[in-house]
Amino acid sequence: MTPTLALERIMLSPQCGEILAAVRAATPAALLDQLDAAANDATRAAIEATALTGGAAVTAAPAAAVPGWLRLGVLDALTRWADGTGSTCRHSPRPDRPEPVLAAAWRPGLVTCCHCTHLWRVGREANLTCDGCGRVCEPESINPAMTQMAGLIFMYGTCADCRPAITPDPGPLSRPETAEQDHPRGTGRVRPRGSRGHGRGRGARR
Ligand SMILES: [Zn+2]
Ligand SMILES: [Zn+2]
Repeated sequence: MTPTLALERIMLSPQCGEILAAVRAATPAALLDQLDAAANDATRAAIEATALTGGAAVTAAPAAAVPGWLRLGVLDALTRWADGTGSTCRHSPRPDRPEPVLAAAWRPGLVTCCHCTHLWRVGREANLTCDGCGRVCEPESINPAMTQMAGLIFMYGTCADCRPAITPDPGPLSRPETAEQDHPRGTGRVRPRGSRGHGRGRGARR
């Protein structure tokens, strides 16, 4: 079993809350503080990005409520970043130096700092491609969104059919957290999808 699938199994396990509590208890306090700070910063960045575009607030959801393609995308980004098989921006963010970082469904294996949004640009067709089913959508029908897990903000876009119907759950399985944007294409410091021509990730479409 790959680390990604092993993590997913833990995440979906009824004991997930207890396992996470045990992991936290075994993590050095200083590192835990940094991890929590990075997660809080990432939440703020995601809220800020969606607020700028009139999107909804970040909501918490149980892992089982998140579609498999999205859950595995997030976990794959985390594990490849952690085991060094992925790539990063020139600032080389590292899991053992927690900070808010970006990953996206349309570029598996890449994790960047929150400043290197230019690395998320893609062409028009990829910009309009649903990350759930692969369908190329009309510009007004693609829904850019973000899911957060700890300090990692995972960007994706879906057609109406694939848009996750996530309901808030304040329980111990509260992550990942999802910030949905109601308007196509983001603006702001963290940009889930940018303007056409500038590509996804990126430039503002106002
Ligand atoms: Zn960077
Ligand atoms: Zn779709």
